Amino acid sequence: MIAPLLAAGAAVGTVGWGAYDPRSPLFGPVLAHGPREQRLLYLTFDDGPRPSATEPILETLESARIPAAFFLVGAAVRRHPPTARRVAAAGHEIGNHTRTHRKLHRLGPRGIRAEMVGGHQDLMEVTGEIPRTFRAPHGYRNPFVGRLARRLRYSTVAWTFGVWDSDRPPAEEIRRRVRARLQPGAIILLHDGDGRDPDGSDPRGDRSATAAALPGIIADARDAGYEFQPLTDLLP
Ligand SMILES: [Zn+2]
Repeated sequence: MIAPLLAAGAAVGTVGWGAYDPRSPLFGPVLAHGPREQRLLYLTFDDGPRPSATEPILETLESARIPAAFFLVGAAVRRHPPTARRVAAAGHEIGNHTRTHRKLHRLGPRGIRAEMVGGHQDLMEVTGEIPRTFRAPHGYRNPFVGRLARRLRYSTVAWTFGVWDSDRPPAEEIRRRVRARLQPGAIILLHDGDGRDPDGSDPRGDRSATAAALPGIIADARDAGYEFQPLTDLLP
């Protein structure tokens, strides 16, 4: 009787790993890294739009001529339509990051559908673009998430590293953390909004320190011989 018990334990462990590891391929393919042999980087911003951070980030990206991907929360898109449209109009990739940023791994099919299809509609109706990429809040997924992502024809995107900028360290600290972790092919996770505050009413959701860190992050990366490329280069 010991063997079946061990097997059951292993199965539970595997599903747990799939749910919590943003890079796990268990619930469908996930993009977490670009080519490791070239000094290329891919910038991604989650949880926006939130004008206090998104707008200065767009200005920095424009003056540095750098593409990025923004994984937008539907509720924030509906609250800040001009900023959402500006992100799209600048040519950055617009990805679905659900409607209200609920953790999907504990939801059933109906809840997951409301979050993923709801976010898809919010983005489409406000920006006029059909999102092609999806990033689960915190990277948490389950089999329903994988199935629906396939049906919506999404490429599911994770990240190579984040720097906990959501904890609101000072801009210099955010910059230092990114510099310390730069590596060829990295998909970098930063935040221009707050997933716990999709309506944008809580001042703790302000990510202007991330926006203030961005020019230094770009300068450090370029000094180290890196180039920023569009995430869409990595899509199938
Ligand atoms: Zn998020």
